[in-house]
Amino acid sequence: MRSKLFIGGKWIAPARGGTFDVVNPATEQVVFHAPAATSEDVELAVSAARAAFDTGPWPRMSGKDRAVILRRIADLILSAKHELAHMEVTDNGKPMPEAIWDVEDAAGCFALYASYAEELDADTGEDIPLGDDRFSSKVVREPVGVAAAIIPWNYPFLMAAWKVAPALAAGCTMVLKPSELTPLTALELGAIVNEAGLPPGVLNIVTGLGPDAGKPLSEHPNVDKIAFTGSVATGSKIMAAASRDIKNISLELGGKSPFVVFADSDIGKAVEWIMFGIFWNQGQVCSATSRVLVEEALYPKLLERLVVEAAKIRVGNGLDEGVLLGPLVSSGQQDRVLAAIEQGKAEGARVAYGGGRPSALKTGYFLEPTVLVDMAEDSFVWKEEIFGPVVCIKPFRDEADAIRMANDSRFGLAAAVMSEDKPRAERVARALRAGIVWINCSQPTFSEAPWGGFKQSGIGRELGRWGLANYLEIKQITTFEGQEPWGWYIK
Ligand code: NAD
Repeated sequence: MRSKLFIGGKWIAPARGGTFDVVNPATEQVVFHAPAATSEDVELAVSAARAAFDTGPWPRMSGKDRAVILRRIADLILSAKHELAHMEVTDNGKPMPEAIWDVEDAAGCFALYASYAEELDADTGEDIPLGDDRFSSKVVREPVGVAAAIIPWNYPFLMAAWKVAPALAAGCTMVLKPSELTPLTALELGAIVNEAGLPPGVLNIVTGLGPDAGKPLSEHPNVDKIAFTGSVATGSKIMAAASRDIKNISLELGGKSPFVVFADSDIGKAVEWIMFGIFWNQGQVCSATSRVLVEEALYPKLLERLVVEAAKIRVGNGLDEGVLLGPLVSSGQQDRVLAAIEQGKAEGARVAYGGGRPSALKTGYFLEPTVLVDMAEDSFVWKEEIFGPVVCIKPFRDEADAIRMANDSRFGLAAAVMSEDKPRAERVARALRAGIVWINCSQPTFSEAPWGGFKQSGIGRELGRWGLANYLEIKQITTFEGQEPWGWYIK
């Protein structure tokens, strides 16, 4: 584990020498004292990124040369896959197979953006027809500059990859601040990019608390762009901080995503995707389909089967074989989720399964997979993001009713619809107000496809070519080619 900050290609102790505890959520043991960056370290990191952008080789290299290094990063991630996954389980709690999946996805993300970096070389500018043949105009794309990435704890390594890979492919330099709950794998990325030959200062990694490290980073005048993933509350603060200097921002925020299940659905498939949609990563997933709407005719049978299947889920330490539900990330998160369940009950919801700590697990921030029913449409648990393994289920009458209920939310990150009737599934998918809609499944995520939300779920899109565009400025270059003088002042 790395006990220093990664700045300008070197490992540097935090200016004030502080640390913060990293706790294994399955054992409640402190496993590491991570370096706590403050504004002095942020200053150093931004200066390193600024110098690397303004005078360093990275933005001036061809996309092909940047791609060589991005591919080396991907390969090094894969060769350290098991160590990285083990670290992620220790830090975040997720089951080992999920951690392996995340690390492989992160490597795939770097490899994909390597190919996009190469494509940039062929992009010598798009000619724009102007309707005035005395002028010609073309559009070129250039890196935004110094980007700051501030990320959450639910996918610590993957979220870093989603931001670092496109920023580097575009030719930007970056300061990355991981969540204080899960800093371990982000620091490892520093060692990986060094070994891959990334020039000093192109990627800088500062671990620290939100107010001490994230805030000065988001307010720094030499940062050109902020890419943030996290809660709506922090996203709103970041937007306010960015407004002073009119910084370019992209925000990936929370969700309360609906899953509409029609009565013609196969019950086995429906229950499987409902469970994957809410129990994967302990439900700590921004796109988790945490509100399930089931057509009345199927509702009783589906609920019965869901309860049977939820009871079979093995809860435990993510390192143990066969565990499908690990602990929540922290005791604070466990308290918040338990409090939400209590509020749900107080407002009239009934617990169909789970609802508390598993009695057999005395240590660790565990929670049973939980199924809530009978809540009102205006209740807290139906409206607000719980960010835990808690699914709320309600019956609906007909298609129009389902669409109305699904869209009645301040969020719009994701949604899912299940039906054997393809035209209906497609129609409902188009009617749902969300940036991502899954048909007959929930959650599969591909680095090639755009990711991001409508409404309060965010601004902009990550992944795919949309993710690259996040880190590129658009410039028009217009040339006067007239044979005669322009003739406005001088006739
Ligand atoms: P959070 O907002 O508490 O923290 C996110 C990051 O912001 C952390 O690194 C934190 O240190 C930093 N931060 C905190 N205060 C700050 C400040 N004042 N200025 C700058 N930075 C600050 O979120 P979290 O609890 O880590 O993550 C959970 C949230 O993230 C959920 O709401 C979830 O829906 C969302 N999320 C969204 C996506 C997506 O793609 N839309 C993906 C994952 C998580």
